[in-house]
Amino acid sequence: MNIVIDKEAGFCFGVVSAIKALEEELLKEGNLYCLGDIVHNNMEVERLENMGLKTIDNETFSKLHNCKVMIRAHGEPPHTYEIAKQNNIEIVDATCPMVLKLQKDVKQGYEQMKKISGQVVIFGKKGHAEVVGLVGQTNNEAIVVSSEKDLEKVDFEKPLHIYSQTTKNREDYEHIIQVINSKHKTGEVYVTDSICRKVSLRAKSIGMFAENVDCVLFVSGANSSNGMYLYELCKQKNANTFFISDVEDIDFEKIKGFANIGISGATSTPMWLMKKIEDYVYREFETK
Ligand code: SF4
Repeated sequence: MNIVIDKEAGFCFGVVSAIKALEEELLKEGNLYCLGDIVHNNMEVERLENMGLKTIDNETFSKLHNCKVMIRAHGEPPHTYEIAKQNNIEIVDATCPMVLKLQKDVKQGYEQMKKISGQVVIFGKKGHAEVVGLVGQTNNEAIVVSSEKDLEKVDFEKPLHIYSQTTKNREDYEHIIQVINSKHKTGEVYVTDSICRKVSLRAKSIGMFAENVDCVLFVSGANSSNGMYLYELCKQKNANTFFISDVEDIDFEKIKGFANIGISGATSTPMWLMKKIEDYVYREFETK
């Protein structure tokens, strides 16, 4: 039996640099608040909490004064920075540069749409931190669309500019754009391609990886949008794909007949966790 870890799996550069900045602060200060989970992976959050990370929610954040708080790669809306200023909170800003650029683009698009009574549409997951940060650039006026059904909220007689959450599926985004174009009365539809290249390239490479192994242990936190998306793609290419978050989720009955086992994961899955799973599977089969 052979196990191979997908070389393309693991953290994207946005998450790598956020965690690097966090680790540096923790080594220096001993502890640091982070607004929301630094990464959508409980195992990695736990590791960093053992180093001194304190994950807080928005309510706790608004009550803090005179301290340091990290903003994670997903970014935050302007309101968060206003609270920080009022409460003398020093921000350690780990917003991914690509998300930061998208925030600026959405803000600019909002100003332009306002002049022509248009709308800003964000294709993304409602309540996702990155989407909240993007909607915040539009005075909370942007329309969030998760599926075709949500297009009910769009006025097809008014101009619109659509952006996507960086981790969305390209085919789904293209489908939504196609539906909008088919319904729009004046054709005044502006589209920004804002899907992260790292995510779209991963989508291509994961299919190839899945086709070249007998089964895939797909490692991700259940709260990762990117994880769910890549898992579905993997399953389309290899029906023997199993979603796991840690070693206890592995069903050895299901994988025992396979000669080539692949391990892959989301852009929020740490490499150390995939290696831990590899070691665990080897050990388990050696003792049988
Ligand atoms: S997925 Fe892309 S845009 Fe999102 S944090 Fe990672 S590198 Fe940045």
